[in-house]
Amino acid sequence: NHKDIATPNRTKEILQTYNLSAKKSLGQNFIIDTNILKNIVEEGDVSERTTVIEIGPGIGALTEQLAKQAGRVIAFEIDDRLLPVLEDTLSPYNNIEIIHKDILNVDMEAFYTSHLKEAEEIVVVANLPYYITTPIILRFLESNLPVDRMVLMMQKEVASRLSAQASTKAYGSLSIAVQYYMNAEVAFTVPKTVFMPQPNVDSAIIKLSRKSENVNVVDEKLFFTLTRAAFVQRRKTLWNNLQVAFGKDPMMKEKMSEGILQAGIDPKRRGETLTIEEFARLSNAFSQLNI
Ligand code: SAM
Repeated sequence: NHKDIATPNRTKEILQTYNLSAKKSLGQNFIIDTNILKNIVEEGDVSERTTVIEIGPGIGALTEQLAKQAGRVIAFEIDDRLLPVLEDTLSPYNNIEIIHKDILNVDMEAFYTSHLKEAEEIVVVANLPYYITTPIILRFLESNLPVDRMVLMMQKEVASRLSAQASTKAYGSLSIAVQYYMNAEVAFTVPKTVFMPQPNVDSAIIKLSRKSENVNVVDEKLFFTLTRAAFVQRRKTLWNNLQVAFGKDPMMKEKMSEGILQAGIDPKRRGETLTIEEFARLSNAFSQLNI
């Protein structure tokens, strides 16, 4: 389709027409390859039943490909310079709504009530601004928005951390924070050359899908405190890290060692070897002992 936004010539032309240059501070790297976009939309399994939430439509390259498949697309863009551009480039589509807001300041509950109550299926798709990848993802996951799937472009290293399994180098509290809610897998990697301007890092598409069964955790706050504590000094044992986090008071040590025993975990293991289920067991045992 010669009218696609995501070609080098059309993108250059749009930027020139509006006298725009990409703002590095807002993580603006525009995609200039329609095939990559089509693959992203396909990973999202987007259909007429789908309401898509996009973060950072830019000049509309991905938004356009989403609008062709989705029932509805709602896109949040922070940069006011792009609003008249989007108005123009996306004018052929009547199923797109652009909201001029910083995604990190959106009241998710109010947004749900005003826009999503009737949605059959909610899918988040974005070529993320890389300077706030993690805050954006955690904001969606920690909100109560019933998001079914997320397909997200990000820095390759971050993608491998989000999808990492226990006992690998990339595994950490971020892997757990994400996989507590979602199954995570890297769908494919993306070369720098499909962006204008080109970023300094390689990119990857990650796919997050809602877990069919929740991890059984009694006290979420304790669970996340515990997982973060276990990784503070990666090379130290679980026992060492937990003492640093929860204190060396003899009563506390007694309780902790009781909890670890009850959970059936060897305190000499490193935190990075524990699966999410093991962390859940441990935090539930701690919670029962009022730690
Ligand atoms: N979707 C376009 C594409 O794929 O070509 C542009 C992606 S670009 C990597 C990231 C976009 O996110 C930019 O349009 C940028 O202005 C926008 N953005 C940056 N910070 C944002 C924020 N806090 N809230 C909403 N959008 C933001």
